[in-house]
Amino acid sequence: MKFDTVIIGGGLAGLTAGLRLQQKGKSVAIVSAGQNALHFSSGTFGVLNEGAEIPENHPYMKLNLEGYLAEVIPFFASAGVVLKGNPLKNSWRITPMGKRQEARFFMEDADPLEGKDTLIGKKALVVSFPGFLDFNTSFLAASLEKSGTAVRIELLALPEMDRLRENPSEMRSVNVARVMDRAWNKVVSEVKLLLKGEDVIVLPQVFGLKDSAIVSAIRESFDQKVLFVGTMPPSVPGMRTQMKLKQSFEAAGGTFLMGDEVLSAEISSERVVSVKTRNLGDHALEADAFILASGSYFSKGLSATTEEVFEPLFGLDVNFSEGRSSWYDADFYSAQPFNNFGVMTDEKFRALKEGKPVLNLYAAGSVLGGADALRLGCGAGVAILSGLAVADAIAPESK
Ligand SMILES: Cc1cc2nc3c(=O)[nH]c(=O)nc-3n(C[C@H](O)[C@H](O)[C@H](O)COP(=O)(O)OP(=O)(O)OC[C@H]3O[C@@H](n4cnc5c(N)ncnc54)[C@H](O)[C@@H]3O)c2cc1C
Repeated sequence: MKFDTVIIGGGLAGLTAGLRLQQKGKSVAIVSAGQNALHFSSGTFGVLNEGAEIPENHPYMKLNLEGYLAEVIPFFASAGVVLKGNPLKNSWRITPMGKRQEARFFMEDADPLEGKDTLIGKKALVVSFPGFLDFNTSFLAASLEKSGTAVRIELLALPEMDRLRENPSEMRSVNVARVMDRAWNKVVSEVKLLLKGEDVIVLPQVFGLKDSAIVSAIRESFDQKVLFVGTMPPSVPGMRTQMKLKQSFEAAGGTFLMGDEVLSAEISSERVVSVKTRNLGDHALEADAFILASGSYFSKGLSATTEEVFEPLFGLDVNFSEGRSSWYDADFYSAQPFNNFGVMTDEKFRALKEGKPVLNLYAAGSVLGGADALRLGCGAGVAILSGLAVADAIAPESK
């Protein structure tokens, strides 16, 4: 089977690059082994947190970063994903632990706070459901109280959830979200009865699994500010975003090989000729260009022994430091050097093998070396911007 481009990995980086290339009129196949980091998303995409610096030799230095940042919201809108936020400036969100965290782009259920101190002096009503363990109201409330917000917690018992509650293991965010697709307006009317003068309503991110319009409808139903706060994974806004990107990629003519895994690659004359997958066996996938978007350790895009960090599929150059003790900081909460290791590339994001670029193999997303220095805690921006940049490097001439 022959495509213009084959992408290894269907996470945020692979889908961004794939959709962009399809929109440019290329034929693209994405091979996607399994879950990706979007399933764990907070509902926000981080870009260059405060204090982040781009290393001088990093490919990002060559990018028109401001130009790409300005494209993010319209690009996601083309896939039916509504993002908010100022592309050039970070705002704040509330984490499931009740802390403030910087983020750049916000899915509909993660409305940015006007400022870091917006909730100080306010009264908040935190609403959850009896038996729902994926949303820790006590932690959230304690942390908000500590930073100056008065909090009251209410548990809303809806008969629609009785069947789920029969088995506590069913009370997960995604299952609750399925019920909420039908019962969300009941939540609105019940919460209205629970309010006792609060100015902020805090709800778990369990609304609008398929369509974020429900999130906006809930927000518009109240005079009070409504904050949707992340739950334990899987993440409802992350899954919805993944689904929309995949659907748009396929609607544009892309081929998404779900649940398949690239097992081997043939390289000849410094070019990748083809890759073979678990499901297709001897039927190799050929392409003019290949994108490695296989993620970091979490997704097995990078692996490690006690001696080395390596890229398992192509054996590409990885920028790990000598001596295992230099890979981590004993202070658990410090930035960990191993998060900065990854595949090295030239300025066009072409992956290096034994110091030389593989001429038609590009790397995007969290498999890239230096990603941690860029993200300082949040990597989605790296995935989006490198996904767009790699697609433009492969198809600069197309629309
Ligand atoms: C738990 C977690 C939570 C995060 N939350 C946030 C957040 O809230 N905000 C934020 O800004 N950043 C967050 N990040 C950072 C994250 O790195 C980025 O958000 C981004 O989603 C990474 O995308 P990616 O496409 O590079 O990699 P991934 O999302 O890891 O996707 C890589 C995909 O490639 C597949 N794959 C690997 N090898 C193969 C193969 N051989 N063949 C086929 N497929 C293969 C994997 O199965 C996986 O599906 C989080 C990261 C993690 C790990």
